[in-house]
Amino acid sequence: MRITVIPGDGIGREVMDAAMLILEKLNLPFEFVWMEAGDEALKKYGKALPDETLEECLKSDAVLFGAAGETAADVIVRLRFELETFANVRPAKSYRGVNCLYEGVDIVIVRENTECLYKGLEFEVAEGVTQGIRVITEKGSRRIAEFAFELARREGRKKVTALHKANVMKKTCGLFRDVCRKVAEGYPDIEFNDYYIDAACMYLVMDPKRFDVILTTNMFGDIVSDLAAGLVGGLGLAPSANIGEKHAIFEPVHGSAPDIAGKGIANPSAMILTACMMLRHFGYIDEANRVEKALEDVLAEGKTTPDLGGNLRTMEMAEEVARRLN
Ligand code: ATP
Repeated sequence: MRITVIPGDGIGREVMDAAMLILEKLNLPFEFVWMEAGDEALKKYGKALPDETLEECLKSDAVLFGAAGETAADVIVRLRFELETFANVRPAKSYRGVNCLYEGVDIVIVRENTECLYKGLEFEVAEGVTQGIRVITEKGSRRIAEFAFELARREGRKKVTALHKANVMKKTCGLFRDVCRKVAEGYPDIEFNDYYIDAACMYLVMDPKRFDVILTTNMFGDIVSDLAAGLVGGLGLAPSANIGEKHAIFEPVHGSAPDIAGKGIANPSAMILTACMMLRHFGYIDEANRVEKALEDVLAEGKTTPDLGGNLRTMEMAEEVARRLN
């Protein structure tokens, strides 16, 4: 298995070292190829996503990505498009010992990754007048809806909830909602419902346990996944995967966090959980469960970085996890 490793910028480098400590320890048949991208790459090579990095990503079985700073749109957003990773999977789970709003939350957000307002079709149509185009297609909606239901089946989850705003965006969200409802008919074993996105945000904060798998469009998915991360202890704990037919990119939800970069105090949990998602993607289920359990124990014992109230440094927390894998 050939994995392109892109630490990127800021805390991306620090949390990547932490996750690699764990992955190396598992001794799996992975070949790690380290490549550059991000703000530093732009300064060095004049390109935030150098051609060799993109070529390596296209050749490899998966990309493990840390974070990009100012150049995120040119790096990770571009990579998601180039590698056609149409599904962005963002779990939000509350772990024992972590000070979060609710215990027992276990939600997976499935976000469409290639359409919607994030396509970047923005124009200045006249002086002081701008316009953005929202693209939602039947094909794209069906592909992501089927992905969400398949994920629910595979993970033994019970319910899929589609989020949209079809009462206002009648064409785009209307199409998305109708396709989701249609796809749901093919999965009678999985419960299905849909909510307006605004109401869903309120339900998420007041009663998150009514959600299991959330299925939504690109921009709504981006926003609700940060909201969901906030429910369970913050960005330091939020992993993600971008999955396509041929390629996969695994990255924490957080960015380069310039305010804490270089201090060695970034929480490595999101990146370690991201590595677990990669392990599961390749069928290393036991290994992923072992790492997640070790991390859970470390969190429960309060052996954490300062964002979660502990006093460990990034690598010290990773070493605690690694030690429990023995
Ligand atoms: P970028 O522009 O690269 O997205 P950002 O600072 O705008 O960076 P994030 O990196 O996503 O956005 O982080 C927002 C804030 O959350 C950070 O400033 C930091 O304080 C906190 N944060 C994010 N990730 C972590 C982490 N792994 N450990 C601790 N705190 C974190």
